Amino acid sequence: PVSVFWFRRDLRLNDNAGLYHALKSGNPVLPLFIFDKEILDELEDKDDARVTFIYNVIEALNKELHKHGSSILVIYDKAEHAWDKIIKEHNIAAVYTNHDYEPYATKRDEAVKAKLARHDIGFKTFKDQVIFEKDEVTKDDGKPYTVYTPYQRKWYAALKPFYLKAYPTEKYFKNLVKTKALPIPSLQDMDFEKSKADFPDQKYTDVIGDYAEKRDFPAIEGTSHIGLHLRFGTVSIRELAKTAHGYPNKTWLNELIWREFYMMILHHFPHTMDHAFRPEYDRIRWENNEEQFKAWCEGKTGYPIVDAGMRELNATGFMHNRVRMIVASFLSKDLLIDWRWGEHYFARKLLDYEMASNVGGWQWAAGSGTDAAPYFRIFNPESQTKKFDPELKYIKKWVPEYADFSKYPKPIVDHAFARERCLKAFKIALVK
Ligand code: FAD
Repeated sequence: PVSVFWFRRDLRLNDNAGLYHALKSGNPVLPLFIFDKEILDELEDKDDARVTFIYNVIEALNKELHKHGSSILVIYDKAEHAWDKIIKEHNIAAVYTNHDYEPYATKRDEAVKAKLARHDIGFKTFKDQVIFEKDEVTKDDGKPYTVYTPYQRKWYAALKPFYLKAYPTEKYFKNLVKTKALPIPSLQDMDFEKSKADFPDQKYTDVIGDYAEKRDFPAIEGTSHIGLHLRFGTVSIRELAKTAHGYPNKTWLNELIWREFYMMILHHFPHTMDHAFRPEYDRIRWENNEEQFKAWCEGKTGYPIVDAGMRELNATGFMHNRVRMIVASFLSKDLLIDWRWGEHYFARKLLDYEMASNVGGWQWAAGSGTDAAPYFRIFNPESQTKKFDPELKYIKKWVPEYADFSKYPKPIVDHAFARERCLKAFKIALVK
């Protein structure tokens, strides 16, 4: 029999918790990846860059595996159907995989686990994509934190060298199944096209030292762009956290902790994927003006900092964090458009899209989340620009026509008016 290792959002051979345990199971390990039709069918763009990224990574993994006389089994189907096929065609002792905390993934894994159990096959899952998960960092009474700062304090208190140690998978590659190269379905087979997007590399160390001073200025390359690699597990969180922990300034490490905080929140409060964390915020009467939403998406709001951000997103699949906060505040508060519309648009466009962080970021901006900006804190696009893009370098990069201010389109909404309207709408919803 074989042990199957099911790759999902942990697409690397080195320092991979579940793979390590599979390799030590005593049975040869068959690596598996499923292009899950259920997820792919939801994607709106045929040239979705994330699909191309995953595809490239799977091809590269396969080449690595060939060096060890092995190969990855790649199936394009709904996960449950794929498992029917795999169970029929292989003699499986156990299945190994890493935790995935998103609501869809949790349900899928329960269904697969039950199916495997009917064939007496074990389903063993491991923590891999975070340093601390689920209930590992809680309040003293065992309840989940819903405020970041005490969570962070507890996170540091719980940290021991063991948690940052790499799993030495490479020692056990001899335990991979020996097989000829297995075919990978093409992007066309899956009804996708190759994206022309540029993917960021995995460098991150050069930003850590100056991160605290540089991270808020979108015209500077002050952040790592490592989000995509964290999303798909092409880097190990243990390696990142260990490196970051070695720096005296912990600002960058704290951002990695924010990521875990939001994953913990999504795990405990799965309703937040499409409902306000604080239910009273679901009572807000949004304006939901479709034309204004379109202008926001296209970067044509007449607010140059908002437009620059949206154009960066549309052109590259990335947007600087400071600008994400500005455009999200603008959509939910100035335009009074449901934050879920914005969350959805980000989900479609961001290379580093991560449901937990995206929902967390949007609900923070809309005021409805854990630890959120209070509803009366409404970003003023102009003062944000003065503070964070004082020389208008970022704006001019993405909105070149801004150079001739007289020709720049008028704002689609007046900020002072929008501010009052927002305060009113939020007050009505919250005092009910
Ligand atoms: P760096 O600044 O170099 O930080 C390193 C890593 O830390 C990031 O890659 C990310 O994994 C993590 N991180 C940094 N800031 C945050 C944060 N505030 N919350 C959670 N994790 C953080 N981040 C995503 O990874 N995916 C999303 O879909 C996402 N959507 C967002 C939506 C909104 C409205 C807002 C305000 C923020 C969102 N963020 C999201 C958080 C943050 O903007 C990005 O993580 C960051 O800009 C990514 O750039 P970087 O890789 O250069 O990050």
